[in-house]
Amino acid sequence: METIQIQAGNVRIGGDSPIVVQTMCNTHTSDIEASVNQCVRLVEAGAQMIRLTVPSMAQVESLRVIRNMLREAGISVPLVADVHFSSEIAIAVAEFVEKVRINPGNFHKDHEKAKEQFAKLVKVCKDHGTAIRIGLNHGSLGERITNLYGNTPLAMKEAVMEWLRMCTENDFKNVVVSLKASNTYVMVEAYRLLAEEMKKSGMSFPMHLGVTEAGNGDAGRIKSAVGISALLSEGIGDTIRVSLTEDPANEIPVAQYLADRYDHKLHSSLSAVTIKGKSALATYAAPSRERLILDFACDFGKRLLDKELDEVVLDGYYIDDNGVERNLAASEFAEYLIDELMQAARRRFYRPEYIACPGCGRTMYNLEATFEEVKRRTSHLKGMVIAVMGCIVNGPGEMADADWGYVGEGNGKVSIYKGKEPLLRHVPESEAIDRLLELIEESATR
Ligand code: SF4
Repeated sequence: METIQIQAGNVRIGGDSPIVVQTMCNTHTSDIEASVNQCVRLVEAGAQMIRLTVPSMAQVESLRVIRNMLREAGISVPLVADVHFSSEIAIAVAEFVEKVRINPGNFHKDHEKAKEQFAKLVKVCKDHGTAIRIGLNHGSLGERITNLYGNTPLAMKEAVMEWLRMCTENDFKNVVVSLKASNTYVMVEAYRLLAEEMKKSGMSFPMHLGVTEAGNGDAGRIKSAVGISALLSEGIGDTIRVSLTEDPANEIPVAQYLADRYDHKLHSSLSAVTIKGKSALATYAAPSRERLILDFACDFGKRLLDKELDEVVLDGYYIDDNGVERNLAASEFAEYLIDELMQAARRRFYRPEYIACPGCGRTMYNLEATFEEVKRRTSHLKGMVIAVMGCIVNGPGEMADADWGYVGEGNGKVSIYKGKEPLLRHVPESEAIDRLLELIEESATR
């Protein structure tokens, strides 16, 4: 899809620009030293744009200092302020960052007031050359919209179209739009609907792609690659973030692979493919394990998601981390990759589905370690959707359709959710996974 080119600091997004790779700090923004250090590391890893959370007015000032320190060190990477639940913070921070991400679902409780505040934000952005991302997430659709359209990709599209119309009414074009979801089907559908609607409405804002709360490890990479590649292969998407519950530097090589592949700078290691009916036999000559995983997810994720194929079998080889050639035919690793791809494309669930946020400056506990432990202890709960979220402010809203949620409250305490309902609050972290498992067992025997 042809989009207009917008500018965030020294980075251009959309038009004929290459796909822009971005990430987000998981430091506390008030910890200036840690945030600056992480930004430096992320730039070294290849991040072209970095987002930091701004949960309160105090962090507006922290972010200003972080920006000044980076600029003094000669680092010009555009900074994006991530703002939820406060239009005032968005307006304050827009004076000095290169981009502000707002979430239409929580910009302001009152829709009429939201319009007024948005007009104020646009004025500041125009005065300072700041870009805006209208960043909607499936889990945080506002009540007004879900009452009208349900919790659907259509609702997501309708919600952002309202905001894009507000941009047009305010004669503001320095805008990027995103419609992320943890469910790859919902995410892909929402962006497709938006691309179609923008075309009809004569709009061509660049799109930021991402699968939210994708988790970690191979599963997080495969899920992200399936959703993002499905859209990039259709010409939808101008900037991407791969969200992993890991060190954010680990997101960059995955995102860079996707950017390079769909900017036609690299090719898949797929050497042959035979298709019979809706089954494919895919033969790879992959230079590494990581390449095999990403190539496979991009080559077949969209076709499985769109039900053009029902099955894929792997053949060929990949080179492992020790430089040894490993055969794929009928191997355990091939079976595992096929299972993971089927799950990411939502065609077959062979283990629980995990929704885990990447963590950010709002995270109040060791998210990575806890997520690993939750996965270890719930691996038998095939088909169940379990969320592990870093904060109580956004976590419950962002868990979307999780059956169970483990949500950090801060101060060593956790809330346990069943669907949208908190069943237990203020559970000490040391007991929280036990309580979660007890509740799941109780609920299964009822
Ligand atoms: S849910 Fe996770 S990523 Fe989202 S704001 Fe909370 S801690 Fe940050």
